Amino acid sequence: MYGTFQKHLIKEIGDIHEAGLYKNERIIVSPQGAEISLESGQKVLNFCANNYLGLSNHPELIKAAKEGLDTHGFGMSSVRFICGTTDLHKTLEKKIADFFGTEDTILYAAAFDANGGVFEPLLTEEDAIISDSLNHASIIDGVRLCKAQRYRYPNADMAALEEELKKAQAQRFRLIVTDGVFSMDGNVAPVDKLVELAEKYNAMVMVDESHSAGVVGNTGRGVSEHFNITGKLDLITGTLGKSFGGAIGGFTTGRKEIIEMLRQRSRPYLFSNSLPPMVVSAGIRMFDMMSETNDLQDKLHRNTDYFMEKMGAVGFDIKPTQSAICAVMLYDAKLAQDFAAQLLDEGIYVIGFYYPVVPKGQARIRVQLSAAHETEHLDKAVAAFTKVGKKLGVIQ
Ligand SMILES: *Cc1c(COP(=O)(O)O)cnc(C)c1O
Repeated sequence: MYGTFQKHLIKEIGDIHEAGLYKNERIIVSPQGAEISLESGQKVLNFCANNYLGLSNHPELIKAAKEGLDTHGFGMSSVRFICGTTDLHKTLEKKIADFFGTEDTILYAAAFDANGGVFEPLLTEEDAIISDSLNHASIIDGVRLCKAQRYRYPNADMAALEEELKKAQAQRFRLIVTDGVFSMDGNVAPVDKLVELAEKYNAMVMVDESHSAGVVGNTGRGVSEHFNITGKLDLITGTLGKSFGGAIGGFTTGRKEIIEMLRQRSRPYLFSNSLPPMVVSAGIRMFDMMSETNDLQDKLHRNTDYFMEKMGAVGFDIKPTQSAICAVMLYDAKLAQDFAAQLLDEGIYVIGFYYPVVPKGQARIRVQLSAAHETEHLDKAVAAFTKVGKKLGVIQ
């Protein structure tokens, strides 16, 4: 059998290459940080990690991880409900709830699992899920696993959401779901308006804070802080793999009965391993740091403002952002690829995005700012962008 299947795969892989969609992985031989070393020996400044608060290689988290390893061992060898729950897991769940101002939290191996396991245990074919068209793949997959009726509205379009809510009045319960920050533009979902509509049309609200937590809001508490609506969201999902240390892990936090039901019925929670103690221990330290000081959030916000201002001043076309994502619009796919390649030669590591990841004719370079960046790093990036931009005729 495999012979014919192999031929089929080789052809399909060839098609991916031909379409220019083949993904190559660049090999890094240093810890994640502002400055990284590549296998080629080149040292580059990294502007494409989700390391927003610069915690991926933070000494405090490494120390806490080692302590967790010493006190609770390497692995749990169990799911949570058999023998995979330690005091550390319970502490971290409480810290996450305290951080977001919610009632309870359930941990997952990843946010992908949190989203994959959130809808099916809560809603049935009698209910409705109303989803933003640009929601993350994990939300889309989670919705697919649930029998609820599906409604979709164009990205952040509140008039369209209202129309879908009217249609969904036929169903028993309604849940609106959105990403907090959309990762290609860096725009924040209009969650204030969304909550108003939810109240008007009797719906619940879920926000995936994976790209917004740690970043959006003065103290990084996400969209509920940004819009001053703490306590109004029924459900929040998020990751420990971006701002919050960048290792692994996800969570759902919100109303306590919802979390209780997920512990009983959520399949990625029930049938997948418990997070390793070292990750949980570092997570606890991380949330303690978030309540002790706001230095990292402040630095990230300063860095983002600084970079946006300098890039605008030299003439780049930049999407307005309320996050730490800065989309430098180039529109042409080939140009975005060439631009990113030439920036790498200048020691700046960024990624060009083009169709089908973004709409046709909307190619761009996405820059992700971090509290790990120093002003000199930002200046180097702006200088490299300026040099390449002039060479490729993007700016004058
Ligand atoms: C990154 C991301 C995820 C997946 O997070 P993992 O913990 O890596 O699985 C889910 N949702 C959104 C919006 C994300 O940006």
